[in-house]
Amino acid sequence: MAQLLGLSDQYDVLFLHGGARLQFSMIPINFLRGAGKPADFIVTGHWGADALKESQREGVVHLAWDGKPTKYTRTPKDEELKLDADAAYVHYTSNETIEGVQFPAEPNVGAVPAICDMSSDFLSRPIAVGKYAMIYAGAQKNAGPAGLAVVIIRKDMLDRIPDGLHSMLDYRVHSQNDSTFNTPPCFPIYMVMLTTQWLLRTIGGLAKMDAINRRKAKMLYDIIDQSDGFFKGHAAPESRSAMNVTFRLPSEDAEKAFVKEATEAGLHELKGHRSVGGMRASIYNAMPVEGVEKLAEFMQAFRKKSGK
Ligand SMILES: *Cc1c(COP(=O)(O)O)cnc(C)c1O
Repeated sequence: MAQLLGLSDQYDVLFLHGGARLQFSMIPINFLRGAGKPADFIVTGHWGADALKESQREGVVHLAWDGKPTKYTRTPKDEELKLDADAAYVHYTSNETIEGVQFPAEPNVGAVPAICDMSSDFLSRPIAVGKYAMIYAGAQKNAGPAGLAVVIIRKDMLDRIPDGLHSMLDYRVHSQNDSTFNTPPCFPIYMVMLTTQWLLRTIGGLAKMDAINRRKAKMLYDIIDQSDGFFKGHAAPESRSAMNVTFRLPSEDAEKAFVKEATEAGLHELKGHRSVGGMRASIYNAMPVEGVEKLAEFMQAFRKKSGK
């Protein structure tokens, strides 16, 4: 992991139980509870809103930007952020999985420690790790099986943790014990190692993976853009996700038919999350180019058949 991400020894890599959601709680328990100052949240979708909810149990949280009024269709521009230069940290979600909204680049948050939920685009593109105080990701989208969160934490953050936390919820304990304070989820960790080796040796690094992922996503977005409005993308073009392509059809009946016929054609799990509706094509690292080509062909044929 350190080699793949080019980590300096300023950073620690932890392998923890509890998926990304336990991080929603551990972050404010470690960095907000005792900080005596608020945390800033940039919320661009479902997961950021859930992370914010857990943080509110531990202290004061400010919304530096909220995408809800615009239905989580885009990421903010830097000048729209209402950041507090004295915040304990600023939290955001690099890729909102359900809405298919991804930051094209890191937001500029100044000197405040940036903490990022990268669960659904971790290892899909190069990461400027130096811009972050902490990165975390549930393994199960791009990195390995469920049962594990990968946490990359800048070591100076460990000095901010208040004493007296429950051991399992204290990043320092996990760091001091090299992620073996209790029995680690060995098999998921082993699988993540194989994934990092595949990315390094077979793919040739994260820039190469990014190029493949962009090519895959472009195939689908091109069809959406060239469909005369038959397919409507959910995300604003500049915030489109390369991992989760979300789009709607002209009617819910058409969407039902699309899902049914796609499934019959061997194209699975295309139904979008109920909060967004429509379709979501999740094309993580493990989805080969050929799989996306099949979906692209299916979309074209479905549109033609519908008389558009
Ligand atoms: C899937 C996902 C989560 C939740 O992950 P769990 O490991 O199931 O807790 C959190 N954030 C994002 C961005 C996700 O995609």
